[in-house]
Amino acid sequence: MARYIGPKCRKCRRYGVSLCGTAKCALTRRPNPPGPRPLRRRKISDRGLQLIEKQKVRYAYGLMEGQFRRYLERATAREGVAGHNLMRLLEERLDNVVYRMGFGATRSQARQIVTHGLIAVEGKKLSIPSARVKVGQAISFTDRGRKSGFYKILQEDIAARDIPAWIELDRQNLTGRVIAEPGPGDWESFFNPNAVIEYYSR
Ligand code: ZN
Repeated sequence: MARYIGPKCRKCRRYGVSLCGTAKCALTRRPNPPGPRPLRRRKISDRGLQLIEKQKVRYAYGLMEGQFRRYLERATAREGVAGHNLMRLLEERLDNVVYRMGFGATRSQARQIVTHGLIAVEGKKLSIPSARVKVGQAISFTDRGRKSGFYKILQEDIAARDIPAWIELDRQNLTGRVIAEPGPGDWESFFNPNAVIEYYSR
C-alpha cells in the first residue's frame, strides 16, 4: 500500500518534532526545516495550524489520507472525546503496539516486522499492520520471527527500551500483552488531537 517513503526525517524537520520515533532523528542534527530558507516568516491561519497538527499525526503513524479519515470517522462516531478516541484507535493498531512494546525501533520497522509475518497475536500469525489489538491480547514472535536476525539483535536491545504502562512486557521471552486501553499521556505530548478533529469538522 502506498505511503510516505521519502527521505527519512524530512517530515520531522518540516514539523519540528521527531515523528520517525528514533533516538537518532535527523532533527537533532539539523533542526531547521528542509529546503531553502524562507525570505520572510508568514503568519499561518488557524486552518493552516490545524492542517499541520493533522499531518503530524498522520505521518507519525504512517497512514495515507483515506485511511486516516476512516479512523477519524470512527473516532467521532464513538462516545467520549473524539481526539482521544482517534489517538486510542491509532495506538491500538498492531504495528504501533509492536513499536510501543519495543519490538521495533521505529513504527516503520515495526510495520515491516508485522508484514513479514514475524508477529503472532494470541499465538496466531497476524501480518496486517492495521489489525486492532484488544486489551488482554498477547503478542509474541512466530517461529519464523524467532529465527530472524532481527530477533537476535532485539534480545540485546530490548533491555534499553521504555515500555508504556498499558503494555506488559516479558523481556526474557520477548512476549507482551496489552493490559489497558491507552489514554491521554500514553501518546506523545506534541500531538494535538483536538486540532486534528477541528480540521475535519468544517
Ligand atoms: Zn526523524
